[in-house]
Amino acid sequence: MTKYPNLTSRFIKYVKKETRSDENSTTIPSTESQVEFAAALVEELKVIGLQDVRLSSTSGYVFATLPGNLPENKEVKKIGLIAHMDTADFNARNINPQFVRDYDGKSDITLGDSQYKLSPSEFPSLKKYAGHDLVTTDGKTLLGADDKAGIAEIITAVEYLIEHPEIKHGELRIGIGPDEEIGTGADNFDVADFGADIAYTVDGGPLGELEYETFNAAQAKIELIGKNVHPATAKGVMINALQIAFDFHAQLPKREVPEKTAGREGFFHLVEMAGSVDKAKMVYIIRDHNRQKFEARKCLFQEIVAEMNASYGTKRVILDLKDQYYNMREVIEKDMTVVDIAEKAMKNLEIEPVIYPVRGGTDGSKISFMGLPTPNLFAGGENMHSRFEYISVQVMEQATSVILEIVAEVAGTN
Ligand SMILES: [Zn+2]
Repeated sequence: MTKYPNLTSRFIKYVKKETRSDENSTTIPSTESQVEFAAALVEELKVIGLQDVRLSSTSGYVFATLPGNLPENKEVKKIGLIAHMDTADFNARNINPQFVRDYDGKSDITLGDSQYKLSPSEFPSLKKYAGHDLVTTDGKTLLGADDKAGIAEIITAVEYLIEHPEIKHGELRIGIGPDEEIGTGADNFDVADFGADIAYTVDGGPLGELEYETFNAAQAKIELIGKNVHPATAKGVMINALQIAFDFHAQLPKREVPEKTAGREGFFHLVEMAGSVDKAKMVYIIRDHNRQKFEARKCLFQEIVAEMNASYGTKRVILDLKDQYYNMREVIEKDMTVVDIAEKAMKNLEIEPVIYPVRGGTDGSKISFMGLPTPNLFAGGENMHSRFEYISVQVMEQATSVILEIVAEVAGTN
């Protein structure tokens, strides 16, 4: 008998609702499907018995409260639990989850009637899941465990507390937001309105993941202005914008790219390039865990641009540089309590915490800098953002238990 009878069905219900975000949209949330998902979630949370359930029109976040029930109204830290409803940039229409019960840890798993399969030879992570019940895709879409698993685990944990009033706990705040995958969802998160003292995003990968170190991140858009004339009479006159682009790129350190770096090594990543002789553009993302090195990377961009423009005698390289988010470690290491609590909770449940610097960001990277320290907990998904995404039912149960254990740690009822 599972401790959480509604967990898997709730997860399946969520993944079947398409909620892909759209980075070209200017609305908040970016897609109508997320508005619909949020509206349904509001109704569900009311039925479960949460209080102050509402959808913020400015941020698109669904907020809800589970009041504390500690004796004599004892006050403890209010815990925020955060997950995101949108899915990544991959087909998410008609998600049709497949169940593999009691997986043997070695067989290939055929994904529906597609030609794709999940094979331990290609995805060795499968070997960890002998004896688990897995949920996979049918090979045509992603699964959306990122981050519907996080939502299902959070809601199931609070439902468990409501159904077991004998468990004493402090106040909990729930925040389910849009547009994490396009990097904008947390921009409008209202920390004061949320009202938590510490928080966790439940948006990590496999069992035990506990993340409080992320990249510092910036995006650089570069416009290259050429001068196009007929090639026959081009000598000494033509300025080819595509050549300017090559010249710019050639001045960046060749080894500092995602495909040649790991761990805490930062990079410059050219993600987009387009243009003609007349005009071209490039988009880079700049990443580094170390704040000083991050600033130095941005300075390098500015110096190259200044030098190139000086050599042309006019502005042919136009740089638009924007910070995206910062390494949350800078905030969290001032008071490690929020991480210590999660580590303790996992160890109480005999789950080994897996702590390493994330080569990316989380909603917590932004929320931590708004004043609410927010590390990231595992939600359980593997191979995220792809048709090969899958999740173990048992790991989802463990994630739910970790949330409840964190609540117990903070309440001091352990
Ligand atoms: Zn996610």
